[in-house]
Amino acid sequence: MLAPLLIQFESKTIAMLVFPDYSTLKPDATLAALEAVLADNRTQLDALLKQETPVWESLVEPLDAMSEAVSRSWGPVSHLFGVWSTPEWRAAYNSALPKLTEYGVELSQNESLFRAYESIAASPVFATFSTSRQKVIQDALRDFRLSGIALPADQKARFKTVSLRLSELQAKFEENVMDGAQAYGHLVTDAAELVGMTASALEAAREKAQAKKQEGWLLTLDFPSYDAVISRADNRALRERLYTAYATRASDQGPHDKTHDNTALMAEILGLRHEQAQLLGLSNFAELSLATKMAESPAAVETFLLELAERAKSRALTELDELRAMAAADGITDLQPWDMAYYSERLREQTLGLTDEALRPYFPYPQVLQGLFDLVHSLFGVRIEPLQGVATWHPDVSVYALKDAEGRSTGAFYLDPYSRPETKRGGAWMDECTSRRKLADGIQHPVAYLVCNFTPPAPGQPALLTHDEVLTLFHEFGHGLHHLLTQVDEGALAGIRGVEWDAVELPSQFMENWCYEPTTLKLFARHWQTGAPMPDAMIEQLRQDRQFQSGLATLRQVEFSLFDLRLHRDFDAAQGAQVLETLNKVRDEVAVLRPPSFNRMPWSFGHIFAGGYSAGYYSYKWAEVLSSDAFAAFEESGFKPETGTHFRDSILAAGGSRPAMESFIEFRQRKPEIDALLRHSGLSSTQTASTAENHVAI
Ligand SMILES: [Zn+2]
Repeated sequence: MLAPLLIQFESKTIAMLVFPDYSTLKPDATLAALEAVLADNRTQLDALLKQETPVWESLVEPLDAMSEAVSRSWGPVSHLFGVWSTPEWRAAYNSALPKLTEYGVELSQNESLFRAYESIAASPVFATFSTSRQKVIQDALRDFRLSGIALPADQKARFKTVSLRLSELQAKFEENVMDGAQAYGHLVTDAAELVGMTASALEAAREKAQAKKQEGWLLTLDFPSYDAVISRADNRALRERLYTAYATRASDQGPHDKTHDNTALMAEILGLRHEQAQLLGLSNFAELSLATKMAESPAAVETFLLELAERAKSRALTELDELRAMAAADGITDLQPWDMAYYSERLREQTLGLTDEALRPYFPYPQVLQGLFDLVHSLFGVRIEPLQGVATWHPDVSVYALKDAEGRSTGAFYLDPYSRPETKRGGAWMDECTSRRKLADGIQHPVAYLVCNFTPPAPGQPALLTHDEVLTLFHEFGHGLHHLLTQVDEGALAGIRGVEWDAVELPSQFMENWCYEPTTLKLFARHWQTGAPMPDAMIEQLRQDRQFQSGLATLRQVEFSLFDLRLHRDFDAAQGAQVLETLNKVRDEVAVLRPPSFNRMPWSFGHIFAGGYSAGYYSYKWAEVLSSDAFAAFEESGFKPETGTHFRDSILAAGGSRPAMESFIEFRQRKPEIDALLRHSGLSSTQTASTAENHVAI
């Protein structure tokens, strides 16, 4: 099913790149192969665990090969589910998923396996292992312990019960948010009420009404529909109405009936998370969350967030005054939350005058892509060339190989650029196809999937990207480089594997910086018809746009992050969940505009109640500090090529083989500091910037 493609070069070096054979892949056969792999792995595992004294070669290496076998048969199914979601592949995915989950749970709960890892860690040879091999063992042991495996029998049983209940509650939380939002609709029958909204938003609202056999325009709470009203509609009462419905989703407030109220779920989720942390001997869930992250402690995160808030506050107040002044000109003297997006949009248009339509002609996709490849070549010394002869799942998809200075192939990636609403999930992402691994007969090189959802080209012209889409391409490419430029031999830690959650966005956000750099923009931002480079004034507008309302935006992220952190850190079983109390206290400290008392933002905060960001929402800002500070090294060196080599070697190549802080310190020769982020966001003022005492390290 997976045909290894051996590429032979003049130097006689054989590089191994492994691609799934998408020309022959069939759902039934793939499923059968996956089941065979799982059965075979179970038999192998039993045999492995019978060993008296397991060693690296007799335990970890065979386990790595077993996990590779799973990813080779499951990888394509999971990938096609996202990019070629035909009914047949969707069915294959849905039938395979529970089997995979069950297999994963079996492994993570296997006590003999845990003991086998423990015995390797306790053996005298452990000290002679390379640091990355030691980390493979230590990470595995840590994850086993955090899943409760080392607990006494009764506590272990309780831990498991709590885990199952939590996954149920978290899924239900998300369901309530979706169903609660979907149950709401506001029908408008008089077009005069909708003045200001864009033609495409009006069309979408009309189609929604028609689908329900109603006359008029149906306004709903899915984000594009909500955003179309809140940021564009001139009608203030309409904005207030939609805001009220949106801010009270899945709660007991606002216009909703109470069937989707998340109040009880939140209390139970917080209580159970706290209980799990305590079973593991930790004080609270924030400590449990940080056990696998780069940030050292909840206190360190809190200090970082409060510092950021302090630096952002004065600018946020100025930005708020600008909005107030603009609203006052319309006769609004009490600026409310439902006015913010509306006046922001107007202010942005008035001061920057930058529209997607004006920018698009400068970003033809093939030219942007070539510019990105050239940049990567000059920064990291790898050339990127089309690779022919590899089957894909769609004609739009291209395959490229990475070549080192000697012309040897060191990796490859698929690039699937355009949206296909019928069969492809929205958004953009990087996923692993195969990972780098050192094998007895050589190196298996990494292969990545890069997936975007750009608007396909109109007839007779290339696809013209918005600046946001260019950012997306660079962002995903940064994740791709992390996966592709790894030099780690252990499959378990190669590329982004084993990288802490709050550091994993470093390379991706780092790459975004180049989309604001005049010299880089000049390379690829050229008018698709005239070839003229983007005018300097437009580049300057783009750079200003990056800083537009950055004070308010920063405070908003700090508010969410601090709320999430304290909610989990300060939970007290005797008091129960203190959701609104915690939020109000955070707002007292950092917010510049208080939402109305009916606002129930936490009730739809899926990131922390349903997703993987619980006591980890700060990761967005944390990783931005790292990526800005890393980019500042390039600015400081005058973009010398050596800085690129150094970044590649200390950060990209090291992957998850050591703590992210060590990699960062090797690159920067010091701990990360927030100054560069403040400067890039326009938040450093002349009074506070650049004095040694003001360097806040994280
Ligand atoms: Zn990302």
